Amino acid sequence: MTGTIVTASRYVGRFAPSPTGPLHLGSLFAALVSYLDARHARGQWLLRIEDIDPPREVEGATDAIIATLEKHGLLWDEPIVYQSRSTARILDAVAHLQSNGAAYFCECARRQLRARNQLDPYPGICRDKTLGEGALRARIANEVIQFTDRWQRIQAANLKTSPGDFVIRRRDGLFAYQLAVCVDDAYQGVTDVVRGVDLLSSTPRQIYLQRLLNLPTPRYAHFPVLNGSDGQKLSKQTGAPPIDDTRASQNLEHCLSLMGMSLPAEMSGADPAEILQWACLAYDPKRLSQKPIAISIDE
Ligand code: GLU
Repeated sequence: MTGTIVTASRYVGRFAPSPTGPLHLGSLFAALVSYLDARHARGQWLLRIEDIDPPREVEGATDAIIATLEKHGLLWDEPIVYQSRSTARILDAVAHLQSNGAAYFCECARRQLRARNQLDPYPGICRDKTLGEGALRARIANEVIQFTDRWQRIQAANLKTSPGDFVIRRRDGLFAYQLAVCVDDAYQGVTDVVRGVDLLSSTPRQIYLQRLLNLPTPRYAHFPVLNGSDGQKLSKQTGAPPIDDTRASQNLEHCLSLMGMSLPAEMSGADPAEILQWACLAYDPKRLSQKPIAISIDE
């Protein structure tokens, strides 16, 4: 066995896709890295469907994501958490923030802020107003949030500088990802968030909210995301094709090779469960840390 056990303490990891489309190679890679990190640490791996933004959802995407994970042997523990059913929990968090004066209503139109170049940082126009409706913003203190990412090392950000008081609930009532993710990571007892480096800049906002809400801060590990040959992160928007579930073993082998792991020749043609069993033992978290930059692949 290569590598060492990440931690002897409790480990609860998760994969938390938004159902904005079926999985593509980049999101399958994300599922696999978080799965291997959890299983290598003999931890649990949970699945949460982040379906809190209906306008961005694609019909059938949730079922397609679940089917792809199953076909690839990426099986989760515990029942799936659907964030759309978390409303009561998230509302409690909102009420807590409001009662502490840690959130305030804002009537600024995004369009106008953008036109005045005031989107980031938000200049606090509504901070001292006492409005009864509008979008809700978190009131940000002038302090540096520091954390150590397992792969990206020490990170520090002053949210006052960017993005300023950020939106936690939109004017139309939809909850922002930053808030919902904190509430549900805590609800599911997640100890380890393993996700792509594209979400690294969100982490200080999440840690800030966790502190305001008295929620534990998990360990964070952000891995390099897959880029297409154009240097853009693989995504539906950049034209990444959906995963072909009939080629599960080949897809896993491809993702493992992108992590620097090559399947032994005698395992060629093995089924997904066998491949994952091998990969959980062969996985070495240090391999990912040695690749701080995005991996370029041609798709
Ligand atoms: N739902 C987010 C996404 O699909 C990921 C959330 C997370 O891993 O924190 O991009």
